[in-house]
Amino acid sequence: MKKNDEIELVCTDLSDQGFGIGHHEGMTVFADNLLPGEKARVKVIKLSKTYAIGKVVERLITSKDRIEPACAQANRCGGCALMHLKYDRQLDYKEKQLKDLFHAISPEIEVLKPLGMAVPYHYRNKAQFPVRIQNGKVEGGFYRARSNDIVPVRECMIQSEKINEIYQWLLDHLSLDQAGSLRHLLLRESKKTSQVQVVFIGEKNHNLKSLAHKLVHDHPEVASVIFNLNQRKDNVILGDQYEVLYGQDYIAEKCLDLDIQLHFKSFFQINPQQMEVLYSKALEMADLNKDDQVIELYSGTGTIGLLAARKAGYVTGVEIVPEAVANARVNQQLNGIENARFVCMDASEFAAKKENQADVVLVDPPRKGMTRQGIEDICALEPKRVVYISCNPRTLARDLKEFASRDYQCLKIQPVDMFAHTTGMECIALLVRKNPVQDDRQKESVPADNQLH
Ligand code: SAH
Repeated sequence: MKKNDEIELVCTDLSDQGFGIGHHEGMTVFADNLLPGEKARVKVIKLSKTYAIGKVVERLITSKDRIEPACAQANRCGGCALMHLKYDRQLDYKEKQLKDLFHAISPEIEVLKPLGMAVPYHYRNKAQFPVRIQNGKVEGGFYRARSNDIVPVRECMIQSEKINEIYQWLLDHLSLDQAGSLRHLLLRESKKTSQVQVVFIGEKNHNLKSLAHKLVHDHPEVASVIFNLNQRKDNVILGDQYEVLYGQDYIAEKCLDLDIQLHFKSFFQINPQQMEVLYSKALEMADLNKDDQVIELYSGTGTIGLLAARKAGYVTGVEIVPEAVANARVNQQLNGIENARFVCMDASEFAAKKENQADVVLVDPPRKGMTRQGIEDICALEPKRVVYISCNPRTLARDLKEFASRDYQCLKIQPVDMFAHTTGMECIALLVRKNPVQDDRQKESVPADNQLH
């Protein structure tokens, strides 16, 4: 096989990146937009020693699981790599991939069926659109997969309808001067309170206050408009400094029965409907009781911690972003919860201090997962259980191996589909101690050798 060859490929599986997988002359070939059971003429566009990447030229056999994607850009923009596959089958493949991944660590880990959505569209509550000027017109969109090119879009099928509507308003009303000094538009909506937040991110505030007032006039549900100054040279989206153009720097949100104040810099789950499923399951797996001391690492705005506090003795939440910690403290007051506190600190540093006892530890790290030292420090606290929420199965698998080498065994994993049509999957892992230490009374009743004489 050589580069630019055209081959006939039979697809037998789907990769965790959404590529169809087939084999040709002993080589594994990955091809975009190809499903198991399909056969296609494929052009080899990249060849390495162990695998090839192909582009479908013509599909010869079509899978009965293929559907017309709800979005015309689905196979161009980087977001929805699985939109051409029936939703139920997406869940089946995600389940299989998770089983392969976690059973390689231990066949005893029980991987449960993913909890999916009844209506898997328009679920996202947050969007970050890059903006640019193209042929004298303001254009926004999404980055193409694995690239910095922008695929222009005016509407996204997994975004909330309200976000689409306000995004279109912005594209139509931003002047060339305004758009020219912006990099991104960030939009966030609370489905429960209907409040919307708009953040203009860029190098210069070009009379954005008057645009903000026009926006609020046309869309009274916009409760907060911010200009965020970003002159960084890297691809970090938000800068440090900002100016409030309308309202406050936060919006009101809700999760289950909690009222939540949400700063634009604070993390919040992007699928609010599935978030409630995720947190309810995580708390069920944590099986808390009124005597339990709980540590929650990576606590964000405190949502899980505050729900946990209703069932536990005391909760200490640890989070590194000061605005999120400030939100968590306000949220604690808003909901009249007394048995919790929130600390602004690096999660590993906090665990290393070992100043808190913990019966149960909840962790919910970003995509890169935990540090080895952080895992070691958590295990040294000897909690009965660890509930690990993860948005990246690969780093979860890596971390579960670290936990296992320190006598914390993963019993089961509950996947929750927060990211329909994309390759993402959220998982909750329940870990327990393999050899619980005897409690102190038992230890004391066994005299040490030197005490026998
Ligand atoms: N549990 C929260 C947030 C989860 S996202 C929720 O469900 O809403 C992960 C959080 O970890 C983010 O809020 C992020 O700011 C925080 N974070 C990232 N690195 C961290 C670190 N080293 N120490 C503590 N928190 C960190």
